[in-house]
Amino acid sequence: EAGLYLVATPIGAARDITLRALDVLNCADMLAAEDTRVMRHLMDIHGVPLRGRRILSYHDHNADRARPALMQALKEGASVAYASDAGTPLVADPGYRLARDAAEEGARVHVVPGPSAALAALSLSGLPSDRFLFAGFPPATKGARTTWLRQWASLDATVILFESPRRVNQTLKQLCEIDPDRVTVVARELTKKFEEVIRGTARELADDPRMASLKGEVVMLLDRGTTAEVKPVDLNEALTSRLGRMTV
Ligand code: SAM
Repeated sequence: EAGLYLVATPIGAARDITLRALDVLNCADMLAAEDTRVMRHLMDIHGVPLRGRRILSYHDHNADRARPALMQALKEGASVAYASDAGTPLVADPGYRLARDAAEEGARVHVVPGPSAALAALSLSGLPSDRFLFAGFPPATKGARTTWLRQWASLDATVILFESPRRVNQTLKQLCEIDPDRVTVVARELTKKFEEVIRGTARELADDPRMASLKGEVVMLLDRGTTAEVKPVDLNEALTSRLGRMTV
């Protein structure tokens, strides 16, 4: 069937791909990927032939240039499969813009669900999963990161964030300034050989020497707020003032 197929791919273990994902990669008229070599490699591993199809590159830095060819193909009734380097292509990856543009063009958008590091980490964390917030990557600068952490730390929900292994230590230190007792989980290299899940309070983890030399890919999770120290953000008020700003 015509349309854009958002295909989830493994976050580590190559066999974490669904049978439907392989079918879609096999049958799509056109293939597009954040990194064409990664898709090629995945197809090789699973014996999916290219059959003369080219893999188009679509990532954050060439999206404007790459979009017209993809949209044209969709308009002509082609099926286009898109995958990012790992996991669900809309989670902290370029798939969102593509999906939005395809929908705006009136194309059908299909999902081929599968792995995502956020949910894999939540599953292993031991933290409550009844309500959670995926916060993405923290801002790079220290001041912005503290404000950002403070806003999520006040929520009554498990918070999931992606972090570079080099910055985990710094983020833990900043979290200690907000709430040293907050139960925190560092989940590393999920579904890979060196998978590791480390739990503790923010203080315990910040003092853990392993945090200074973490390697690989990392997800951090914070338990919901329990102390009165973190002043809750009034979401209604925050929203109203933002809307207010937008209308002036
Ligand atoms: N779209 C992906 C998904 O759904 O999992 C996420 C893409 S985002 C650009 C990459 C980040 O995801 C990494 O920096 C890391 O925080 C997290 N990540 C991806 N694979 C991981 C793994 N195997 N173990 C731990 N974290 C992982």
